[in-house]
Parts: sequence; structure tokens; C-alpha cells
Amino acid sequence: MIVCKFGGTSVADAAGIRRLVAIVAGRAAERPLVVVSALAGVTDGLLDLAAAVYAGDAAALDRAIDALVRRHETVAGELPETGPALETVRADAESIRSSLSPALGRRLRPAEVDQVAGYGELWSSRLVAGALHGAGVPSAWADIRPIMVTDDRFGRATPYVQMVNNRARECLRPLLADGMIPVTQGFIGATADGVPTTLGRGGSDFTAALLGAALGAGRVEIWTDVDGLMTADPRIVPAARTLAAASYEEAAELATFGAKVLHPATAMPLVRAGIPIVVLNASRPELPGTTIEPSAELERMGDSPIRSISWKRGITVINVRAPRMLGAYGFLRAMFEVFERHEVVVDVLASGEVSVSLTVEDRARLDPVVRELSQLGEVWTEDGRAIVSVVGIGLRGTPGLASRIFRAVQPANVEVISQGASAINMTFVVREDDGPDVVRRLHDEFFGAK
Ligand code: ADP
Ligand code: ASP
Ligand code: MG
Repeated sequence: MIVCKFGGTSVADAAGIRRLVAIVAGRAAERPLVVVSALAGVTDGLLDLAAAVYAGDAAALDRAIDALVRRHETVAGELPETGPALETVRADAESIRSSLSPALGRRLRPAEVDQVAGYGELWSSRLVAGALHGAGVPSAWADIRPIMVTDDRFGRATPYVQMVNNRARECLRPLLADGMIPVTQGFIGATADGVPTTLGRGGSDFTAALLGAALGAGRVEIWTDVDGLMTADPRIVPAARTLAAASYEEAAELATFGAKVLHPATAMPLVRAGIPIVVLNASRPELPGTTIEPSAELERMGDSPIRSISWKRGITVINVRAPRMLGAYGFLRAMFEVFERHEVVVDVLASGEVSVSLTVEDRARLDPVVRELSQLGEVWTEDGRAIVSVVGIGLRGTPGLASRIFRAVQPANVEVISQGASAINMTFVVREDDGPDVVRRLHDEFFGAK
């Protein structure tokens, strides 16, 4: 069997869903399992409801709910056999309205936000299942929530892999064995008690990978709006090229440092079984896309030591200076315990003789972290920063690369430099405004027409 995951832009409108139907029908012999995201923009729209509730704006809440329903009506209106899906959308919208109206004026709890944020996938999967059925493709809508059992860290829940494996096999294998194409939801899950959760933004890729690993898929296809994993975000670098192949490690590093095309955790469940991920363009299904697989055959591939350049904005640098840390053990541990206690993820770390610089993306929980770090030394923060990351297996043991990178980056000021232990990325911090230019200059240096 194979897993075919379709992102929001691939199911943005009726034409997109018709393309999906053709792609899936063409793969019927490979026994596909379909995982879908919400229609493009719908998850944002659902999260906006929480903002309208907090603002106490009843009219805005009503308008926003109506707009979501109309959005699905427009798509369904052009597709046969999606009437029942629409009934579900309308009924859910009314239950959202009646559960949120009494909450006007207060901040929704994380569990309440997750409950609302997950409707987009429930709706899109109903539309897609209906459309497949309408096209004569035997399909079955499957609820992922009892399968994707997670902890209760709402908004960024972690699946319990063993349980997911067992439930996925129990619930989905019989459908596949019956010759049905299951259509299920990315991004959402539920606690063991059945309370809805979400896996974090962009989490549908991760869902697809978990299901692929559970079911022993031949490959996991990620259908999106670009030709594959590229040498840079084509929105920043129009000349970016599509990579034929990349390793799991490279894909994970690129995603961690900003390449939105894949969720950072996607490769993780697939490594052990060596199941390849193929990133494909749903508007141009005839293209080969990018195959992501174990690194062995890739080590010497291609002429550039670099595979791709990614960047991530909205970064804050935290500097801790403590003369006493010189020669003192236990200092770094004490520092990381602060981050651990507040569940704040550190992306980049660089340490010198008496100071440490780290980068974080999550500003919401920064204040208590800074307060506690101040007990260890002098702390200052710099925001409005971006991380730029140059990634490639070829970085391992290619001498002279660092100077080539930094020559290209000038005249932008580079603030923190770090090379991951895997030695396949070189990452540094620049001012946010300089980010796109830095990415373009690096791209020119390593992939420009020579
Ligand atoms: P989906 O809705 O299909 O999950 P996303 O918007 O999450 O799609 O991811 C696709 C987007 O990722 C592309 O439109 C592109 O702008 C962006 N992107 C960033 N870096 C890269 C990269 N290195 N290669 C390809 N796309 C990238
Ligand atoms: N719909 C969710 C989001 O917008 C999940 C995903 O697209 O992967 O984040
Ligand atoms: Mg995505």
C-alpha cells in the first residue's frame, strides 16, 4: 500500500479535488490511503474564531462561521455526491456557534482551541471521500481521532506511536483488504479519553508518515503546490531548482530551519523501515518530484556540496553571560533545565568562553525563561532575527565551505553561527530584514548560473 497526503492548496477548490481524484484513481492498484489537510486557509479561519471570541465580537464570530460554511458550499457545489459532506459542515458550524457564543469575551482554553481548529480536516476529508465516491472510486471516510492517540499537550500534541501503530492496523487494514481507499484526516488526534488534539501547524505530513510506518507503506507521497523539495523557497528565490533526491537527515534539517514544504518530524517514523517520502506537485502530477530516502547512495550525488538553503523568521536570540561558567560544570545543564521546565524549544546554540547564545521561536513563554536565566548570569535578548541554514550531506568534510558561505552573506551582519553535530548544516542568525537577501545571495553562490 502507499500513503497519499494532500496539502491545503491541493484541496483548495473543486478543481484541486478533481485533480486529487484523478491522481488517487490512477494509483488504485497500489492500494492508496488518502490523508488530507483542511482546504487552504480554513485552519487559519478556524483559529480566527478564537480571536473573535476573545474580542467579544459576536457579529465577527457569526460572519466568520458563515464564511467557512460558504467556502465549503462553493467547493461542494461543483462536485457530485458531496451533499452529505455539506450537511456535516452545516451541522458542525451550528455546534461551533452554540459552543462558542457563551464564551464571548474570554480566552478559549487550549483544549477548546484544538476542538475548533480540527474541523477543517474533518470537513475536507468528507468532501474528498464524497468526490471519490462520485467518481466511482470505492472509498471509505475514516475518523483518525481514535487512531491518532496523543498526549494532552494541546496545540502540539505528541502521538503515542505504539498505540497509533496498533489502532491504524486494526482500523485501516480491513478497509484496504476490502479494496476500499480510506480517506482520513491529517493534523488531528485525540487523547486516550477522546478529547480532540492537534499535532501542531503543518502536522498533516507527520500524520501521513506515522500511518505509512504503521501500515508498512511502500512510500509516502506528499502532494503540495511546488515541484518538490527545492534548493530554496521558490517564493524567495524564483530561480530555485527542484532536487531529484535528498536524505532523511537533510529533509529534517531543512524543515526544522524553515522549509515549510515538510513538517520537521515527517522523516522520523520512516527512518527505521527505510520507507521513502516523495514530494510531488498536485498541479503537475507528471513531474517526478523529490524522493527522500536513506542517505547511503546520496553521499556523492550532485556537484554542489549543498542541497538547499532555508530560513525562518520571527526568531529571538537569548544571550547569557556568566564569567563563572568558565570551567564550571553543570552550568549548561542548569540553563537547559530552564528551557525544559517551560517547554521552550531551542533551535540554535553557540557557546563561547563566558557566554552562550541560543535562539527560540516561541515568544509567548519568553518572560519567565529570561527571569530564571537571570539567576545564572547577565541575560539580554534580541528579537526581529531570522535563522538562515545551509544544508547538505556534502558539508561534511568539504574544506573551505565556511568562508565561501560567509563571503556570500556579506554585507549582512552575522550574529550567531553554529554547525550541527550531524555536520550537514551551517546555521547562522541575521536580522530579519536581511533574511531574503541573504538566502538569495547564498543561492546565487551555490546554484547560480556559472
Ligand atoms: P501544503 O499545504 O501542501 O502542506 P505548505 O504551504 O505547507 O503546503 O508547503 C509548501 C510551501 O513550502 C511552498 O509553497 C513553498 O513556498 C514553501 N517552501 C519553503 N521552502 C521550500 C523548499 N526548500 N522547497 C519547496 N518548497 C518550500
Ligand atoms: N491544516 C493544518 C494547518 O494548516 C495542518 C496542515 O496543513 O498540515 O496547519
Ligand atoms: Mg504543509
